Order: sequence, then structure tokens, then C-alpha cells
Amino acid sequence: MINLKSIVDIINPKYCYSCSNEVQEDGLCNSCWKEITFIHNPSCIRCSNPFPHEISEFALCASCINKEFNLDKIKSAMKYDSFSKKIIMLYKNHNATYMAKFFAKILVSCGKPLLDRTDIIVTVPIHFWKMVWRGYNQTSLIAKHVSDISNKTFLKTGILKTKFTQSQSNYNQLQRQKNIKDTFEVNGIHKQEIKGKNILIIDDMITTGATMEECARILKLSGAKKIFGLTIAKSVHKSM
Ligand SMILES: [Zn+2]
Ligand SMILES: [Zn+2]
Repeated sequence: MINLKSIVDIINPKYCYSCSNEVQEDGLCNSCWKEITFIHNPSCIRCSNPFPHEISEFALCASCINKEFNLDKIKSAMKYDSFSKKIIMLYKNHNATYMAKFFAKILVSCGKPLLDRTDIIVTVPIHFWKMVWRGYNQTSLIAKHVSDISNKTFLKTGILKTKFTQSQSNYNQLQRQKNIKDTFEVNGIHKQEIKGKNILIIDDMITTGATMEECARILKLSGAKKIFGLTIAKSVHKSM
């Protein structure tokens, strides 16, 4: 029997975001879905960098051991590789705002242990003029969907970017920390709201974590309690 959904599907077919094959649901086709390298356990209990071998349940990777961070815990859904780069770039650079919900669902599923402990969601901000140029803040759109699905407060302008910075991509970790230092501030109108709360910072991807760590630093300076990070992709390093 033909139902309303199948009529809509015939009139308005859906296509895989990556390869344009026809699909039943918004998102990726089965073969593209298999191209994603999801990050599984065992992984570092702080930054979720996967270990290449079995290890105790509560281990820290070489980058996290014996170091102090403002970011208490980070989860990333997938490894940053050629495929995840392709779908993130499609979303970011081709005005593919319809992909926001797809990424949000992936984040909610991967970040559940963090979302369960989260009071407020924020994003790593982009500079105001960059947003005007692009027309939208792509991470904010994803965070709004995460907030709707998880029923957590989203402060769209919780953190503000107050200075232009060079792209982090050509810098090493130390240079990244220097480049990003003192370029964010907690929005004055939200300072009271943030005090004593657990905050989840959402971004598309994480490399060294310098940008997210700087956001975490200013949030803790404003009295936030725990800071979590949640990203779609992570550049995985060889650990231990
Ligand atoms: Zn496909
Ligand atoms: Zn780690």
C-alpha cells in the first residue's frame, strides 16, 4: 500500500550527502556511512584519542598524562581523515545547512555521557565579520539542533571572539596557543548564568585542542564548574 511518506519520497527523493546516490533518510548512503572511522574505546579518558591496543579502562594518553587542562573531558565522534574532511568541508564551504541536523544526531549519540552532565551548551565562536561574510555560523546551527534534541540550554553568544586571528592550520601546538590567547571573552550578559554550571563546548573538529582549551580557560575564569568539549572529528595522534 502506498502511504503518504512514499508519495513524498517519489516527489521529493533524498540523496546521499557525499555521493548523491538515492537514500531513504536524510544523510549518507550505506557505503558512504561505512567510510566513516568512528572513534571507539579503548580511548584516552580525557581527550578520547583512541589507543591502538587494549589497555586499562581508565588510561590517559601521552598528551594528557601529567598535564593540567581547563577542559575536563573531550569526546569526538570520528577520526579526521579524507572522508570526514570531505563531509565537513561540504557542510562548511558549500552552504549545506541541511546537513546540520545529521551532524547534530551524530554528536548527541557520541556525546551522551557528556550531555547527561551538561547544563549549558556553547560553541567555539567565529569573528563577527567572518560570520557576516559566510552568512551563518555553521557550528551554531549544529549546536542548536543538539540543544533541541537533548533539551539543554544553548547560549548562541555565550563566548565572543573579540580579535581576528590567523588560521591555526599552519601552526604547531605552542604557536596555536599563542595565536589564540586572549582572543575570546565570555559574553557579559551571560556571566551570571555560567557561574557554577557545567558547560559543553561544541566545534566541528579538534587538532591540538588549543582553541577549545582557551575557551575553557575563560569560562572557568568566569566561574564555570566543569568544561566538556564535543566535536565531529578529531585528528588522532599516535599514543603510547
Ligand atoms: Zn553515498
Ligand atoms: Zn588524551
